[in-house]
Amino acid sequence: MARVGFIGLGKMGLPMAANLLEAGHTIKAFDVVDASTQAAAQRGMTAAATAGEAATDVDVLFTMLPSGTNTLAVYQDTDALQVAAAGTLFVDCSTIDVASARKAHELATNAGKLSLDAPVSGGVTGAVAGTLTFMAGGSGEAFGKAKPFLEIMGGRAVHCGDAGSGQAAKICNNMLLGISMIGVSEAFVLAEKLGLSKQALFDVASTASGQCWSLTTYCPAPGLVETAPSNNDYKAGFAAALMLKDLKLSQDAAGSVAAATPLGKHATALYEQFNEAGHADMDFSGIINFLRSKERDTS
Ligand code: NAD
Repeated sequence: MARVGFIGLGKMGLPMAANLLEAGHTIKAFDVVDASTQAAAQRGMTAAATAGEAATDVDVLFTMLPSGTNTLAVYQDTDALQVAAAGTLFVDCSTIDVASARKAHELATNAGKLSLDAPVSGGVTGAVAGTLTFMAGGSGEAFGKAKPFLEIMGGRAVHCGDAGSGQAAKICNNMLLGISMIGVSEAFVLAEKLGLSKQALFDVASTASGQCWSLTTYCPAPGLVETAPSNNDYKAGFAAALMLKDLKLSQDAAGSVAAATPLGKHATALYEQFNEAGHADMDFSGIINFLRSKERDTS
């Protein structure tokens, strides 16, 4: 069994680390918020006092942090990379910008460590159940070493390419998801106004060319897909704040390579308005109610 360091014990990180512990690995856990480190200790992990302590004498170090700034803070502003043994595998599972992900790889490689960016989809439910999907970027060697751990925390791990490719896959996927959720929501709002029942639209579109995950698995109109957050008062799920974060990352990335993403840009603006209207904690599919309440813009 392996020795694992885990930094960032929030809504995602703690259950991910708990699944590694349950599989028999030992875990050194650290979070800047002491109560979170203590919560990990209560579950049987060893509390580390610093990031460096979590990185000492481990085979692999996972980070699960809010942003690229936080990942680089661990990689640059602590001694984690210096104290870890040569060849230790650093895996950043946070969703961050591609440039920071590449910088983290560079720092780890220069310090003689293996490095992987491996953001996830599947949310807190997937983190608890160990059914996350990992999108990984880095060398084949790093991916090969990480895979047994990723397979404990998730149902699927895809090697997407070199450094930063996991983050690129994540933000492209989530830009598509944000756009498709707005598209499905608009179709239901239009159907309502045309006097078409939501059941009729669902029966047609779910088996026709409008079919997509936002419709058939996560339908924003309630009463059609039992497990969708729309049937639970739009409780997240995947919070609108996180969707906005990922859409903004997609737009930063698009800007950096001059890619035209007009629908991605528009989806970002709509989720920005939705968040600003006080719905940051609501599931992102709640945007259907926001769209319903909007007046038609005839410009
Ligand atoms: P969270 O805010 O609950 O947890 C982040 C944790 O990191 C916090 O406990 C915080 O104290 C800690 N932290 C911040 N900076 C740190 C540092 N320098 N050193 C040590 N600890 C530090 O966030 P989360 O929901 O667990 O999300 C983590 C990442 O996963 C984010 O990048 C998010 O975008 C991504 N993600 C989240 C979800 C979701 O549904 N929550 C789904 C997919 C991906």
